Amino acid sequence: MAQRWTVSQAQDLFNQPFLELMFAAQQVHRQHFDPRQVQVSTLLSIKTGACPEDCKYCPQSARYKTGLESERLMEVAEVLASARKAKAAGSSRFCMGAAWKNPHDRDLPYLEQMVRGVKALGMETCMTLGTLNDSQAHRLADAGLDYYNHNLDTSPEFYGSVITTRSYQERLDTLGKVRDAGIKVCSGGIVGLGESVSDRAGLLVQLANLPVPPESVPINMLVKVKGTPMADNEDVDPFDFIRTIAVARIMMPGSHVRLSAGREQMSEQTQAMCFMAGANSIFYGCKLLTTPNPEEDKDLQLFRKLGLNPQHTTTESGDNEQQQLLTGQLLTADSGLFYNAAV
Ligand code: SF4
Repeated sequence: MAQRWTVSQAQDLFNQPFLELMFAAQQVHRQHFDPRQVQVSTLLSIKTGACPEDCKYCPQSARYKTGLESERLMEVAEVLASARKAKAAGSSRFCMGAAWKNPHDRDLPYLEQMVRGVKALGMETCMTLGTLNDSQAHRLADAGLDYYNHNLDTSPEFYGSVITTRSYQERLDTLGKVRDAGIKVCSGGIVGLGESVSDRAGLLVQLANLPVPPESVPINMLVKVKGTPMADNEDVDPFDFIRTIAVARIMMPGSHVRLSAGREQMSEQTQAMCFMAGANSIFYGCKLLTTPNPEEDKDLQLFRKLGLNPQHTTTESGDNEQQQLLTGQLLTADSGLFYNAAV
């Protein structure tokens, strides 16, 4: 049976001397994963802005004036064109995000077509659409959805300072429905909301103590967007961020820990230490929802400098030969060749 964590145990990990924590995280990481493999996902915003929720960090909330232009749900064909591009650039998973409180049943046929279409390209599929009911979770599962992202964001105690329009319990309920429908869970949080170390520990305890820990745990660094209530939050010390990755790795040894939003602001050295701390998944290319993401070629350069390889999945369409080829070219060719060969 998986270990049940307490907040005080998690805090003890946070309080370890930095290098000892890094060493412990590396050991756990190497027991469960190949340390040179990094899973690569691409995230596309399929419906942008005008969200009725009030998440204080989010430019997509209709409550804040951030200058973000709202867009309606994208056409299925446009989404599939983006997925093809992402696949050609080396992504193995295509994540589709919609700024909704919850999807309406009238949207489901389009969402199902998107899932089926992306699966047919041989990619893993992920969606983040807000709160789901049982029937929606099962319909998406039947369409072939592999992962559902729904972040807990922070600890239950600090949550009310960040979001008031959706309860923590609603979030946990959605994660339960997703799991019950047979979809894998992607859930994580944000560092830099003004939370304490105890809140970071509390978030990781919630995730690690789920009946089954999430397969994928995105750890985001707050991207401060002008017009949101958190625009002037204090910067997070990179070492505190790296510590959060390391503690997540130790507490959820079998999960992919994803270095997510905020990577644009991180130096290569900080990113490298995040990989050392056990991060083994990134978003790559397209737009990371509406926050800037380092350009793909910068990622390829960093991968080459660190000797990291993108991890590819064996796909239902059996398209593994091309994926192997991409891996080889990524390691040996410059990024121009990589793109040319990949298209
Ligand atoms: S984080 Fe999601 S739910 Fe919250 S305001 Fe942004 S789009 Fe809406």
